[in-house]
Amino acid sequence: MEEEFLRYVRLLYERGHITLLSGNVSAKSGDLILITPTNWPKPFLTPEDLVWINLSGEVVKGRLRPTSEWRLHVEVYKRRQDVGAVVHTHDVLPTVLAERIDASALSEAEAYLGSGVAVVPYIKPGTRELAEAAAEALIHSNVAVLKRHGVVAVGRDLAEAVNRVEVLADLAKATLYTTILKIVEKYAL
Ligand SMILES: [Zn+2]
Repeated sequence: MEEEFLRYVRLLYERGHITLLSGNVSAKSGDLILITPTNWPKPFLTPEDLVWINLSGEVVKGRLRPTSEWRLHVEVYKRRQDVGAVVHTHDVLPTVLAERIDASALSEAEAYLGSGVAVVPYIKPGTRELAEAAAEALIHSNVAVLKRHGVVAVGRDLAEAVNRVEVLADLAKATLYTTILKIVEKYAL
């Protein structure tokens, strides 16, 4: 499980969704959660660097500390029994656009996201308040934008959650291009 998990983490890094130290990923197995450690360069993570925590956030296995956003992951799993993976990125475009994202801009969004894009007001990162607000928003949505911060996507497994991160990034791009084209047409640039 750890090797497959790390392949997804590297893919997220290589595609620019997460940066060296920002963003975090988790996957659930039974009552335990495999999660990325805090302050560790993502593309160089090894299976030994990963952390197993329980639903109380206690480290069950691993020598490093879990991501500072571990509460966000735990709170999502507590509310969504159907969720097996949570991905949090700092994707810039969806974050900047937030409620301006047009979910109808790409037909694939309807198929893959299965819901609209939730938007969570800015709350200090790493706090219990943010974890709860994001998890509440994700009860009825599979993707959420955290204002001025980033994105959270959930799925049955990492394939579904990571795909939703990518679809949301594409949706943000489509929204921006559509907006630019409207301005170009309006002013006949
Ligand atoms: Zn973050």
